[in-house]
Amino acid sequence: MNHPVEDCIVIGAGLAGLAAARTLENAGLSVLLLDKGRRVGGRMASRHFQGAHFDYGAQFFSARDPEFRRVIDGFLGTAVASPWFDRDGETRYCSPLGMNALPQFLADGLRIRCEVTVAAIRRDQHLWRIVTENGEVYSTEILVLTTPVPQALDLLEFSEQVRNDLGAIEYHRCLAIMAVLEGDSAIPAPGFLRVTQEPLQTLSDNRQKGLEGDATGVTILASPAFSLLHWDVPKEEVASQLLAAAAPWLGSPVTHWRYHRWRYSQPVQTFDGRYYGVEGSPLLVLAGDAFGGPRVEGAFLSGIAAANWLLAK
Ligand SMILES: Cc1cc2nc3c(=O)[nH]c(=O)nc-3n(C[C@H](O)[C@H](O)[C@H](O)COP(=O)(O)OP(=O)(O)OC[C@H]3O[C@@H](n4cnc5c(N)ncnc54)[C@H](O)[C@@H]3O)c2cc1C
Repeated sequence: MNHPVEDCIVIGAGLAGLAAARTLENAGLSVLLLDKGRRVGGRMASRHFQGAHFDYGAQFFSARDPEFRRVIDGFLGTAVASPWFDRDGETRYCSPLGMNALPQFLADGLRIRCEVTVAAIRRDQHLWRIVTENGEVYSTEILVLTTPVPQALDLLEFSEQVRNDLGAIEYHRCLAIMAVLEGDSAIPAPGFLRVTQEPLQTLSDNRQKGLEGDATGVTILASPAFSLLHWDVPKEEVASQLLAAAAPWLGSPVTHWRYHRWRYSQPVQTFDGRYYGVEGSPLLVLAGDAFGGPRVEGAFLSGIAAANWLLAK
């Protein structure tokens, strides 16, 4: 099926894609977002099972930049954004509804098609042709690509220049266990621990964080080294090692657990610049946390900068 030509298509409805789409829409463009996920938000992911709620991607976010700070200030006092704790003189924010609430809110009113996996992108004279896994074709003159960079490089035959500039960007992997506890956890207030001891990276008590539930849910994130080494190890074995390592902080028996693998968790290196614009017609810009900084705030600022670059063209 061939879809009608769009003004602008954004691939990826994580924070970068949503911020870009909102900025372009506010400037009067009609924008369509495509995302392979079942819902928007990408790595700002939340779920619940067995009475417990979990954030299993980003655990919190900073708001250092005045532009992002203004957006977050607008949400304070609502269930979308709330200060969680201060560390090193800086506030870490979370969402009491789960981190996915912020992207859900930013998505409100935008045209988004989820469960659409882009398989390839081709240049066809002055248009981008976006071919999905199901063989559907979307077309646009303006394309914003916000998937993790290695995935973006797989979608399109970029020039050698682009590959030289972006080809070295790699991401840490991260194995995550979501554990439901019979009672309270032993993670001290405020419910977040950065663990410097292998195989763990962080432990978060989602209930202390403010995510309501009948049961306590603890998110255990493994270190990059452990995650890389155990990527293909059966999940039961991974869970048993991570739960054993986390036991001193769990404090009560684990009744259920689930597992998630993040192939692209956070960029190891970032590009020196908030976006990567490819000059010429049709227009293309890449954005995401590999450009704005390896965090939620960086992704958001990258999306806005990419959109502003397009609007200046
Ligand atoms: C385990 C973990 C913990 C983290 N902890 C923190 C933290 O505490 N604080 C912090 O600030 N940051 C944290 N981060 C990083 C933060 O989540 C990211 O920096 C930010 O969410 C990236 O946003 P993005 O829009 O650039 O990318 P993403 O959120 O990854 O969005 C990209 C989107 O592209 C879509 N996509 C990919 N390929 C295709 C395709 N072929 N077709 C269609 N759609 C596609 C994906 O489904 C996704 O929705 C963490 C990340 C992880 C995974």
